[in-house]
Amino acid sequence: QFPSVNDYLRHHIRTVPDWPAPGVQFRDITPLLQNPKVFRVLIDAFVHRYMDRRPDVVAGLDARGFILGAVVAYELNVGFVPIRKKGKLPFTTVEETYELEYGSATVELHTDAVRAGDRVLLIDDLIATGGTMMAGKKLLEKLGAVVIEGAAIVDLPELGGSARLRASGLPLFTLVDYA
Ligand code: AMP
Repeated sequence: QFPSVNDYLRHHIRTVPDWPAPGVQFRDITPLLQNPKVFRVLIDAFVHRYMDRRPDVVAGLDARGFILGAVVAYELNVGFVPIRKKGKLPFTTVEETYELEYGSATVELHTDAVRAGDRVLLIDDLIATGGTMMAGKKLLEKLGAVVIEGAAIVDLPELGGSARLRASGLPLFTLVDYA
């Protein structure tokens, strides 16, 4: 019925117009998780990509990156670490602040989450401006880790985030583009 895994996944992403603000087309990935068959196809797409060049650690970005990243890490038999919005992590952290359309955001990572030289896979659900993933990469690099790739379900290439991330030297793997 679907010509590719990517089309199958695209079919199960819900677009909600004007949420959370007028003009935004929100790409809602919750239907992918809700359907057990689709969830398995989604996770397997990531696992197949990394099973022959396994990272040492998977890092997930708050909050949908936790859902994906934890399952992918479990399947790859490597550890998972969360990169959280400021104020949530209890131990000592490194932090990185980045600009949003209105204002700024800060993300944090425990200082013992990775070790210098660790090869890390960084996961989120979606790349828009790329600011979130770039902040995550910088946090991991502050601790001496190497981000081998950034992975997401959705890329919004028109916002230029994925091009900026690639230009910074970060390879990317995404499954569905919305032009
Ligand atoms: P950015 O930092 O601009 O690349 O934004 C990426 C983060 O914001 C991800 O964690 C996404 O979950 C969320 N996000 C941004 N834009 C959208 C959108 N159009 N649909 C769904 N999530 C979005």
